[in-house]
Amino acid sequence: MIPVTTYAGRKVAVFGLGGSGLTTAHALTAGGAQVICYDDKRERVEAADAAGLPTGDLRVADFAGFDALVLSPGVPLTHPAPHWTVERARVAGIPVVGDVELFDGERRAANAGLRLAAITGTNGKSTTTALLGHLLAELGEAAQVGGNIGRPVLDLDPVPGTAVVECSSYQIDLAPGLAPEVGCLLNLSPDHIDRHGTFEGYAAVKARLIAGSRQAVMGVDDETTAAMADRFAAHGKPVLRIGAFDNETELHRLGGAGVGAVGPVLYAVEAGGVREVGRLTGIASLRGRHNGENAAAALAMAKALGFAPEDAARHLATFPGLAHRMEEVGRAGDVLFVNDSKATNAESARQALASFDNIHWIVGGVAKAGGVESLTGFAPRIKAAYLIGESSETFERQLKHHMPTVRCRTMDAALDIAARSAASGGGVVLLSPACASFDQFRSFEHRGDVFRDLVRARLSKETA
Ligand code: ADP
Repeated sequence: MIPVTTYAGRKVAVFGLGGSGLTTAHALTAGGAQVICYDDKRERVEAADAAGLPTGDLRVADFAGFDALVLSPGVPLTHPAPHWTVERARVAGIPVVGDVELFDGERRAANAGLRLAAITGTNGKSTTTALLGHLLAELGEAAQVGGNIGRPVLDLDPVPGTAVVECSSYQIDLAPGLAPEVGCLLNLSPDHIDRHGTFEGYAAVKARLIAGSRQAVMGVDDETTAAMADRFAAHGKPVLRIGAFDNETELHRLGGAGVGAVGPVLYAVEAGGVREVGRLTGIASLRGRHNGENAAAALAMAKALGFAPEDAARHLATFPGLAHRMEEVGRAGDVLFVNDSKATNAESARQALASFDNIHWIVGGVAKAGGVESLTGFAPRIKAAYLIGESSETFERQLKHHMPTVRCRTMDAALDIAARSAASGGGVVLLSPACASFDQFRSFEHRGDVFRDLVRARLSKETA
């Protein structure tokens, strides 16, 4: 844990007592601050009490007596409406910050040997964060991975090395002083607009991470990020551009410096020219064009941190990948089983459908706006769609004129029918639901775990 000494001797209100909130309260206390913790959920306050943290009802506390309000990223700061604690902090004139702000302030004040590499974007944050952490560790750097990916930033160790931190837009919004050694903005597409008001508002928050960074790594695969990269470069920010392209001539979009993927081949562009630095061929954990973008970003960040991209690229092949993102969970003869439970919308599922052929597609759950209408173009790659969850009727209507559909209701039934169909002609049994999971599962992780367990049980029975 990193004790936050920048608030030593001062009073801090901590609202939101999930995992990162509790860690923040402990870190502030360890650094000598006097905290009062609170949450709208009574059981969370009780858990903080049980953990020995001072709690108090912030609804009646005098906010003028606090030096800051530390908010969990899950709590609305501006949209749809500021949380009541935010209103009270504004009236009292105290700053509202999050754990990433405390981490970075402390890092710069007291942990000079700890560099920060921060990653944001609409898609690919966790993959790029984990991948960069892996590459740096393999290169002998003391790398620690945290932030939105799971381990709270203040849980990291205050030791020299590099902190590789995934930042959501909410975390950036709560970190006005964020100043990483290198900051990466992968891509931007409309998402979380409910929490930022407009797409422009969302993009502006993401841009703040780059504005604060000493060096920037920025995607050119979408127009918004590409235009933003041009603006930052024009203002003198050192920018390495990254992207995934159809052919080598498109590498010019990287401008003078960057890393690009053309199919599975990774190229570095520098003043001296273009050179191949690595390949993704045969790396199961980095399949698909989107992972070309993620790998290019990780190599560019490694470069910004002082490692030659070709040296970093040597370790791509040992990246274990992340659970629930096109995770290979089994193989039986020429049938591959893939868990892409993290695909909670059509855009995410698109990446998986574009990465395989002969797909036996398990899809459904709580549908997002538009359902799977936008994915019918993948029909030539899909043998059949096996429908689960409450979206079954809608998805059947959207898909049935394009591919065979089978109503299965449960994961268990879907896997059974899909695996038996695949056994005759080979292919991929792919769980990529394009839906939230809450009709049948606690979370996308739970859904993926159930799928993985079912596949493993089935395969062990087959080989028994
Ligand atoms: P995030 O942390 O931003 O949610 P992840 O790395 O967890 O992203 O990937 C989640 C899903 O998003 C993946 O399963 C894949 O379908 C899709 N994805 C990953 N990287 C990208 C990318 N660079 N561009 C577009 N989609 C991506």
